[in-house]
Amino acid sequence: MTEMSIGVVGAAGRMGLALVREIVATVGCRLGPVNDRPDHPAIGQDAGLAAGIDAVNVLIGDDPETVFRDADAVLEFTSPAATVAHAALAAKYGTIHVIGTTGLSSEDEQALAGSAQKTAIVWAPNMSLGVNLLIALTEQVAASLGVEFDIEISEMHHRHKVDAPSGTALALGQAAAKGRNVPLDQVADRGRDGLTGARKPGDIGFAVLRGGDVVGDHTVLFAGEGEQVALTHKASSRRIFASGAVRSALWANGRAPGLYGMRDVLGLSN
Ligand code: NAD
Repeated sequence: MTEMSIGVVGAAGRMGLALVREIVATVGCRLGPVNDRPDHPAIGQDAGLAAGIDAVNVLIGDDPETVFRDADAVLEFTSPAATVAHAALAAKYGTIHVIGTTGLSSEDEQALAGSAQKTAIVWAPNMSLGVNLLIALTEQVAASLGVEFDIEISEMHHRHKVDAPSGTALALGQAAAKGRNVPLDQVADRGRDGLTGARKPGDIGFAVLRGGDVVGDHTVLFAGEGEQVALTHKASSRRIFASGAVRSALWANGRAPGLYGMRDVLGLSN
C-alpha cells in the first residue's frame, strides 16, 4: 500500500509542530511538503529539527501552492484568512484539506463549503475524541433537561489564544441550542459586564478565561434549582488534536468532495 503524503501549512506554529511530529510517528503516511509565512524565522529549517525530533529532510518552505500541489492531504491550523485562501488551492488541486483553524466567520464557512464542492474538506474546531463526545453528550443532555436548567459554557486557554469564545465553546453552544431546538444566535449571551439585568430564561451563557499554558479546558454547566450537572473536558497535550487531524486525513482518503466534520470521522453522525 502506498503511503499517503501529508503536508502542513503553518508548520512552525504550536499546532504545526505537533502535526509534524504526529505525521512522522503515524504508520500509513509520510511527511509531505510543509510551509509557513514567508517572514517566519523558521523558513528553511528542517521541519523535524524545528519540531524537536530527528531531521526529516523536509525544509519549511514559504509557498502554499507547492504544498497543495504535491501533497495528497494538507493539515492546517493557522488563521481564518489564510485558511480560506488555502481551501481554494485545495479545490484547485483536488487535495484533501483538514482544517483545525478557529474564529471563522459565517462568510469564511461559506467559502469553505464552496471549495468543498471540489474536494474533501474536514473542518473541526476541535479534533479530540473526548471533546467530540462532549459535544454529542451536550446535545443529548440539553434535549433531556428543560429550560429550568440554565446552560453556561466556560472555557480556559493559554495566554496566546486570539479568538474568544473558543471554537469549541461555540460548538458546544451550537450542540446545546440544537438539543433545545433553538438557533444559538437568538439565545447566546457572550459577554456580561455592569448592570446586565437578570438572566433571561433559555439563554446560553459563555465565560472565557485566558492564562498560562492551558491547552484547553471546557465545561458545560446545567444549573437547576437545587442541583447542577457539569460536563467537563480538559486537554493536557496538543497531541490529541494532532492525532485527530492525521486520523481525519487518512479517513478522507478516497472520499467524495464535501465538507465533513469530526462526527463523520469518528462515526458519531446519526
Ligand atoms: P500559532 O500562532 O502557534 O500557529 C499558527 C501558525 O500559522 C504560525 O506559525 C503562523 O506563522 C502560521 N500562519 C499564519 N498565516 C499563515 C499563512 N498565510 N501561510 C502559512 N502559515 C501561516 O497558533 P496555534 O496555537 O497553533 O493555533 C492555530 C489555530 O488552530 C488557531 O485558530 C487555534 O484556535 C486552532 N486550534 C484548533 C484546534 C482543533 O482541535 N481544531 C486545536 C488547537 C488549536
